[in-house]
Amino acid sequence: MNTNDRFLDANIPDELAATIRPKTLNDFIGHESLKQNLSVFVSGARTRGEAMDHVLLYGPPGLGKTTLAHIVANELGTNFRATAAPMLTKQGDLAAILTSLEPMDVLFIDEIHRLPTAIEEVLYSAMEDYKLDIMLGEGPSAKSVRIDLPPFTLVGATTRTGLLSNPLRDRFGIDLRLTFYAPDDLAKIIIRSASILGTQIDPDAARALAAAARGTPRIANRLLKRARDFAAATHAPRITADTIKTTLVQLHVDGSGLDEIDREYMTAIIRHYAGGPVGIDNLAAALSEPADTIEDVIEPYLMQLGFVQRTPRGRVVTDAGYAHLGLVKS
Ligand code: ADP
Repeated sequence: MNTNDRFLDANIPDELAATIRPKTLNDFIGHESLKQNLSVFVSGARTRGEAMDHVLLYGPPGLGKTTLAHIVANELGTNFRATAAPMLTKQGDLAAILTSLEPMDVLFIDEIHRLPTAIEEVLYSAMEDYKLDIMLGEGPSAKSVRIDLPPFTLVGATTRTGLLSNPLRDRFGIDLRLTFYAPDDLAKIIIRSASILGTQIDPDAARALAAAARGTPRIANRLLKRARDFAAATHAPRITADTIKTTLVQLHVDGSGLDEIDREYMTAIIRHYAGGPVGIDNLAAALSEPADTIEDVIEPYLMQLGFVQRTPRGRVVTDAGYAHLGLVKS
């Protein structure tokens, strides 16, 4: 499995992914206080007939940022427009989207920390005053024009707030942080998804799957689909705890949700750097993975489990990490 396969469902058009994705705050499982707040902000904006304040969503991939952005538009009863920062390479790309918005629309920008500075600067007045300041032409004849935009809500998603510039971050009135899900919530997500997929799953099977889903709904859904395949392969009428065991063994996922890449990551620190500390760039070279993939996709969950720590001098595998791998610190 390649590191990004874990998050593949986001990239592959899949009619099932669309049906599984919750459409309302009610269907969105877990994160109760975040939902309560969001529901107050949505109804406030609706009552006043104004665009809702801009929202910054942050947290590791697969935790529901895109889903929540859809839900905000749905609950506000407005259009949902989506783009991702890597697709915006010129100021004109953003200007074209902003000028085509209708009043109160929700504009979702994924990976907002990747916006080039020149484009980010266009967003400032768009977010603050609903004005678009752009330069027409080049050289001495260039002139700046200001265009009125309809009121809109920007929903930005990022895996790292640390990479966002202060002026951009300050323009979001609502800041929502998504954290890894508790196993009980993941089990509920699995049971809900299974019923949408028309698959029966035993409660203990849902719990076992939840425990291996890295606190991440997208991974829970992906594992559920694979378990469904393994159940079908043995003509089993429902997914049982045994089906989950087979699924996890076949996918090389252990009971804590770690897969080969996680184990390679920890083993590399232990074997090549005596357990750490080691800097991210050295690790990226040792694993042949981009540093930001390691930081976004591999490390957050290993740190959450307490298997790895980030220290000022670099990454360190903890005693719990050694124990998980069945290794002893030398
Ligand atoms: P992100 O944008 O943070 O990478 P997504 O919003 O694409 O994550 O979520 C990944 C998938 O996980 C969605 O398609 C959705 O089906 C599921 N999901 C995420 N959060 C929840 C939740 N709270 N309840 C139920 N399903 C969820």
